[in-house]
Amino acid sequence: MSRILLAGFLLTLEALAATGFKAGVGRIVITPRKPIYLSGYANRNRPSEGAVHDLWAKALAIEDSRGSRLVLVTTDLIGLPRHISETVAARVQKQYGLDRARLVLNSSHTHTGPLVGQNLSILFDLGPEDAARVQEYSLDLTGKLVAVVGAALADLSPAELSYGHGQAPFAMNRREPGPNGVRIGVNPSGPSDKDVPVLRVTAPGGAIRAILFGYGCHNTTLTGEFYKISGDYAGFAQIEVEKAQPGATALFMMLCGGDQNPNPRSRLDLAEAHGATLAAAVSRVLSQPMKRIEGPVRTAFRIVELGFAPHTREKFEARVNDGNVFVARHAKAMLKAYDEGRPMRRYPYPVQAVALGKQVTLVALGGEVVVDYALRVKKRYGSEGMIVAGYSNDVMAYVPSLRVLKEGGYEAVDSTTYYGVPGPWAEDVEEKIFTAIGQVMERVKR
Ligand SMILES: [Zn+2]
Repeated sequence: MSRILLAGFLLTLEALAATGFKAGVGRIVITPRKPIYLSGYANRNRPSEGAVHDLWAKALAIEDSRGSRLVLVTTDLIGLPRHISETVAARVQKQYGLDRARLVLNSSHTHTGPLVGQNLSILFDLGPEDAARVQEYSLDLTGKLVAVVGAALADLSPAELSYGHGQAPFAMNRREPGPNGVRIGVNPSGPSDKDVPVLRVTAPGGAIRAILFGYGCHNTTLTGEFYKISGDYAGFAQIEVEKAQPGATALFMMLCGGDQNPNPRSRLDLAEAHGATLAAAVSRVLSQPMKRIEGPVRTAFRIVELGFAPHTREKFEARVNDGNVFVARHAKAMLKAYDEGRPMRRYPYPVQAVALGKQVTLVALGGEVVVDYALRVKKRYGSEGMIVAGYSNDVMAYVPSLRVLKEGGYEAVDSTTYYGVPGPWAEDVEEKIFTAIGQVMERVKR
């Protein structure tokens, strides 16, 4: 009897402890101050020329009633390379005592943002001045990312969290099958995930403090002819959401849009229109009843070693004088690694999961993850309250599913040249990632 009473008492404590969140918000402008090479397209031949709007790093800190913390950071950038993410994570751990598993660093993948660190290093052979500018920017960015996490933690105060989701139509599968294999185009019958998850943070009086929303689609409305800095559709969407909710900070999280392009694209007014469409989807979610989040914050992070398909020195030697400047540059970089006795065979790939009570689960994966991963996670673990993000913690390459890897094309093979990785992933890439997803999910789903 006393044992039953004790169990009941503990359950009551658990229920009480399950409410009473705190949240904090930080934001910092990360627009480059000087002209800088923009990332994402190999055809650009000069630095940026002004800006359409600012780029931001934004942070949302969440703490449950037991003091378990999480900080989600979103950035209007092409992708954070591992070197920067791990430097930021180490400094955040040292300065604020936040474990690696409690920090999520996501990038919007805007193609009108600066080169960041060594990400996509094969795209350009920069002169010393332009290279120094990228290095200077990356150093400054690293400090700002640490600072924005600190600002969010310093802002922690009582809050209520709720969740809902909507849809936005403009994500389009871009893997178009043709007589010579898959090329980048438009494939209306290919898989997409048009879900728009929305996490709302309100103050006790009801005022909205933060709105985190996501979408699985490349920020590539603006193509390689654009030299003005912007966040593409996600930049416009955040501005629109903040206009509609004065005083709130809007944070955009990039989901599994590795093989998705906005449709249509190639004009500034289209980027603005897609942004407005996405912001309207967020507004619709906010105007309807949302699910209140209760319960503890749980996080798990692990590194899984992914292998590349076998490669040899001879393969790259044969390409050093290739007529394609990118193939030749890539071959030289790969041979350099061979010469230094460290040919790249494996890569430490980050897999993270976060549970906000039973209501919301975030799976955050590194790299340019194709939509198949989001669909498979939702099928396996349920789609209700499930957010599956790519472009998190490290953007080292595309991450194709086995299906996409076997079909070939840009996301499977061609993109590895620009990323400076030796070639496609080994065929166990999807299964290894799902094994790791299973492990982090088990840690957070207790
Ligand atoms: Zn991409």
